[in-house]
Amino acid sequence: MSDHAKKAAEFLKDEERARWHDQSLWFVREKRDNASKSVPDWESLRETAHKIKRHTLANLPRYLEQFEKNARARGVHVHYAYDANEHNSIVLKILKERNVSRIVKSKSMLTEECGLNHVIQKNGIEIIDTDLGERIVQLLGEPPSHIVLPAIHRKKEEVGKLFHKYLHTEKGASDPTYLANAARAHLREIFLASEAGISGVNFAIAETGGITIVTNEGNADLGNSLPPLYIACMGIEKLLPRARDLSVFTRLLARSATGQPISVYTSHLLGPRPGQEMHIVVVDNGRSDIFKKEKFRKALFCIRCGACMNTCPVYRRSGGYSYDYVIPGPIGSVLAPHRGMKKYKSLPFACTHCGSCDDICPVKIDLHEQILEWRAEIDMSGNLGFVKKSAMGMATIVLGNAILFALVGKLVRMIFRILPKSICNFITIWGKTRDFPDIPAKSFREVYDERVMNGTDNGK
Ligand code: SF4
Repeated sequence: MSDHAKKAAEFLKDEERARWHDQSLWFVREKRDNASKSVPDWESLRETAHKIKRHTLANLPRYLEQFEKNARARGVHVHYAYDANEHNSIVLKILKERNVSRIVKSKSMLTEECGLNHVIQKNGIEIIDTDLGERIVQLLGEPPSHIVLPAIHRKKEEVGKLFHKYLHTEKGASDPTYLANAARAHLREIFLASEAGISGVNFAIAETGGITIVTNEGNADLGNSLPPLYIACMGIEKLLPRARDLSVFTRLLARSATGQPISVYTSHLLGPRPGQEMHIVVVDNGRSDIFKKEKFRKALFCIRCGACMNTCPVYRRSGGYSYDYVIPGPIGSVLAPHRGMKKYKSLPFACTHCGSCDDICPVKIDLHEQILEWRAEIDMSGNLGFVKKSAMGMATIVLGNAILFALVGKLVRMIFRILPKSICNFITIWGKTRDFPDIPAKSFREVYDERVMNGTDNGK
C-alpha cells in the first residue's frame, strides 16, 4: 500500500534538500511563465491543443489504422501491445532474434511504465539510458523522480561523487559543465558500440506515418540513427491526425516543460535510415479503460511536459518518490489509481486543491476535478479508511449546521487556549512540524458581527 504522507515525511527530514527541491522547480515554473507570456495566442493554443486531443481520441481506431498503414509503407514494422507484458515480450523477441547484447535507450516514460529495463537486463542484455538525468538515476539504481527532470532530487555534488566512482572524473569535481562533458564522452563510446536503440515517442502523425521525438541533448537522435536496429515505443494516445498539428504542440511542449521557446532537437522520423531496421510498438496498457471512463478521459491528453509537477505545492515539497508511482505529481495522482485504487488511494489526497495544475496544463486537463472525482470514488468503494471516513462524517454534520458549527468552534477554541502549547503541538498534526498558533478568543464571525453591530465597520 502506498502512503504519500509517510513518504513525504521521509523526504522532508532533509530540510535543506526539500527547500532546494522546491526552489529549483519553482525556478522552472517561473521560466515557463515568462516563456508562455511571450506567445500572444498562448491561451488559444492551449484550447486548440485540447480540441485536437479530444478529436483524436474520439476517432482513435481510424487514426491508428491510418498511422499503421502509412508507417508500414515507409518500411517500418508496426506492432500492437495490449499491456506492459506484451510490450516487453515484443521488444525482447526482436532483440533476441537479432542477438543484440547492448542497447542505448533515450528517455521514455512508457518503457518506465512497462518496466522494460528490468526485463531486458534479466535476459542478459545490457541497456544504457542516455539522457543525462536518466543515466544519473540509472547509475544510482533509482527510478526517475520527475518525468522531464529525472534527477532533480540530486545535487551536483552527489552527481560529482557518482561520476567519480563510475566515470572516473576528478575527485570533488561538481561543476555541471565538466560533469556533463564527462557524461557525453562516456556515452559517445557506448553509442558507437551499441547494437540497437530504443526511444519513446512524443508525437505520432497519422497522415504521414512518421514520429516526432523531442530532446535537449540529441541522445535520441544518436540512438535512433547510429545502430542498425531501432525500436520506438509509444502509447496509443501519442497520435495526432496531421503534420500541421505539430506546430501547436511543439510550441506548447518546450515552453511548458522547461521554459524554452523550442527544444534543442525536434526530430521527425519518416522510416528507417538506409540499411536500418525500424520497429514501432504501439501500447495500450490500460489506456482504453481510462478512455471508457468519461470523467477521467482527459487524462489521456497529457503530453508529459511536467509543468503540473513544477507548479504543484505538494509535489515541490514532497518529492517525486513520495508518489510511489512512475508518474508523480498531479497527473500521477490521477493516473495511478487506475492501476489500483486501493494501492494508490492516498494520492488524490496529496492535493491542496489550489487548481494551479489546471491553469498551467498546456492541454487543459481538468486535473483537480479528476482528483476530486477520485476522492469520491475511493470513498464510495469503501477505501477511505476509518479515521478519514469518521472525520468526514463529523465534518459533514458540523459544517451543515450553523449553530453546531459556532458551538463546536467555541469549545475547540476554549480547549486549545487552556492546554499548554507543548501538548497542543503533541496532539495535532499541525503541531508536529510547526508551532501551534495562538488561538483567538473569538471567531471571525463573532468579530465581524460585533464590528457591524457597533458600526465600526460597514461590512465591506
Ligand atoms: S497533465 Fe498537463 S501539465 Fe501535467 S504533465 Fe500532462 S500535459 Fe503537462
